[in-house]
Amino acid sequence: MLADNYNQVSRQIREAAARSGRSPHGIKLIAVTKTVGPEKVREAIKLGITDFGENRVQEASEKVTGIREVKWHFIGHLQSNKAKDVLPHYTMIHSLDRFSLARTLQNCAERFNLEAKVLLQVNVSGEKSKFGLNPEAVSDFIDSLAGFDRLKLCGLMTMAPYVDDPEETRAFFRELRVLRDRSVRPGLELPELSMGMTNDFVVAVEEGATMVRIGSALFN
Ligand SMILES: *Cc1c(COP(=O)(O)O)cnc(C)c1O
Repeated sequence: MLADNYNQVSRQIREAAARSGRSPHGIKLIAVTKTVGPEKVREAIKLGITDFGENRVQEASEKVTGIREVKWHFIGHLQSNKAKDVLPHYTMIHSLDRFSLARTLQNCAERFNLEAKVLLQVNVSGEKSKFGLNPEAVSDFIDSLAGFDRLKLCGLMTMAPYVDDPEETRAFFRELRVLRDRSVRPGLELPELSMGMTNDFVVAVEEGATMVRIGSALFN
């Protein structure tokens, strides 16, 4: 039952926040609806969920264009030629990982006359299967965005490796937070850390996540 799952996830977030001395209000639950249809999204809205995540432009399009009263987050790998389909419909893109995409987003944002809120995706674990900037490249990458006045860089995002014991993900989440702290500079606050999925969100919250992206724990 979605309601029971939601209650349980919310409680786990609250408890993890308390353990790390944080307010639960500083943590946004993004319900990842990539495996479910619009009727489940509506059920989630009735429970009070306000933010939803999708990782594929095409599959999400019916939900995202049909359900306008919530915030949609784009969390998957974004091909540059799809940027124009994503920007107008999503509140934030969590997966900026290369300069060419930044340039495309800047151009689209100019064209639509809007601001593109983005997170930098960082591959902290170094797994070959994962997208994201190398942690060492983040500082220069941020510098390279200076001329893109339509991009609002809000923070960092990562995906930890899938492991049986979520405790093993702690070092990766901590590294993202340290990287964020080091990347803050005058005029750039980077408040958001998008990290933690079903398997590891408790550890991510303990390590400072401000956004957790949860699918299976809610919808399975
Ligand atoms: C699918 C997905 C999630 C949610 O994964 P669950 O394990 O189902 O919670 C989070 N982030 C990204 C980028 C995803 O693609």
